[in-house]
Amino acid sequence: MSVAFQQCIHPDCAATYDVGQILTACPKCGSLLDVNYDWNAIPVPKSLSGFERRWTTRLNPIDFSGVWRFRELLRFASDEQIVTIGEGQTILQKNDRLGTTLKMNNGCLFLQYEGLNPSGSFKDNGMTAASTHAKMVGAKMTACASTGNTSASLAIYAGVTGHFQCIVFVGSGKIAFGKLSQALDYGAKTIQIRGDFDDALARVRDICAKHPIYLCNSVNPFRLEGQKSIMFRVLEGLGWTVPDWIVVPGGNLGNSSAFGKAFMELKHLGLIDRVPRLAIINAAGAGTLEEFVNTSGLKWNEGRPNAAQIDARYSKMDQQNERASTLASAIEINRPVNLEKALRALEFCNGIVCKVSDQEIIDCRARIAATGFGCEPASGATIAGVQRLRDEGVIAASDRVVCILTGHQLKDPDLTMAYHSNDPQLIAKKLTPAGVTSTPFANPPVVVDNDEAAILAALGIST
Ligand SMILES: *Cc1c(COP(=O)(O)O)cnc(C)c1O
Ligand SMILES: [Zn+2]
Repeated sequence: MSVAFQQCIHPDCAATYDVGQILTACPKCGSLLDVNYDWNAIPVPKSLSGFERRWTTRLNPIDFSGVWRFRELLRFASDEQIVTIGEGQTILQKNDRLGTTLKMNNGCLFLQYEGLNPSGSFKDNGMTAASTHAKMVGAKMTACASTGNTSASLAIYAGVTGHFQCIVFVGSGKIAFGKLSQALDYGAKTIQIRGDFDDALARVRDICAKHPIYLCNSVNPFRLEGQKSIMFRVLEGLGWTVPDWIVVPGGNLGNSSAFGKAFMELKHLGLIDRVPRLAIINAAGAGTLEEFVNTSGLKWNEGRPNAAQIDARYSKMDQQNERASTLASAIEINRPVNLEKALRALEFCNGIVCKVSDQEIIDCRARIAATGFGCEPASGATIAGVQRLRDEGVIAASDRVVCILTGHQLKDPDLTMAYHSNDPQLIAKKLTPAGVTSTPFANPPVVVDNDEAAILAALGIST
């Protein structure tokens, strides 16, 4: 008997299922599923610092992994079943230079740089867990829909481990070339659908339900178990103390949901004594959560969020053919699949949602990069959110704030180049349609003749 089981999150159903079942929704009521545990049967260390001893046994791959060295906190697989490629070697970085520009006190702003994962985004934290479950249940073929990073991540796990084939479905719109090229390079069968992410996901869910293909999107509850470890590493980076804020971009809300669950469990286990506040940042062009929470007052409501309200909003979205649109392609989502779990996380973590424009997102992306931490546009939303919340006085100068930099800078170099170029044509093509009217943090290349005097003049060195 496993110490883990799957469970419907709806309190009126709460049906449980074996870990060996392949499910992405409750068969009885259609709600999302959690992976839950019989904690009494798991030897969880008495304090979080108990996990640190694994730093000394890093030649063991499951102690090396930044996900699985916390394995007692996601004990759905045995040690032998774990699929790992060394994900989660990411660290928390204090960033006073950026903090100062946000009028924050020294030692208060931290960046959790998840771009350092093997495929260059936080998705690897989840994909190691989904891949582990896929192997446990004997899957031969895996699939996902993706705005890019999920496909890159699934493709790398399929490619490195050789445990299964993989098919990725991407929309034909804004996928960043860095991400698409990864899926192709790692050998994933790549299906580019004429449609956006939401179309691709609906399609792949349908196909996986009808055929023996294992779905690795964030509706897969095992994937989110791996993503809890981002919070474990944040706490580790703070010497096992709890920050005041966790700031994360919101797309399908898998991360937000996983973070909330991590803190619910750590609190339940007595491993933390307080919980940080969660700030989920939407792009204004993809602000479904923000609208639900801040305009319509949608709440977790003890597990019974107003379903009629959600359905009505989504019907209207369909009728009017409203489509999310943002330069931060990783969060260009119409219907966040983990909405209910994110509402639960917001409630548990006394969280807030805020939306920021594409101008704010790409300016902040450039500001982060200028301190040496290259990230992709979606990750820039975190600092844009902090800027707003500082201006509004919600975040105090002395609050300890952790921003999750979700993806690497090299995922989307086209946008970075358009920003820095000063080239009116590139700007008109890439930035102006998104409402970006200026590039105040641009650092354009200086073009000069191949001539010493001209170079010195460009450098401002007088002769
Ligand atoms: C997937 C992704 C997101 C969105 O995360 P969710 O868990 O879907 O909310 C944000 N940033 C990057 C770089 C991503 O790849
Ligand atoms: Zn149910």
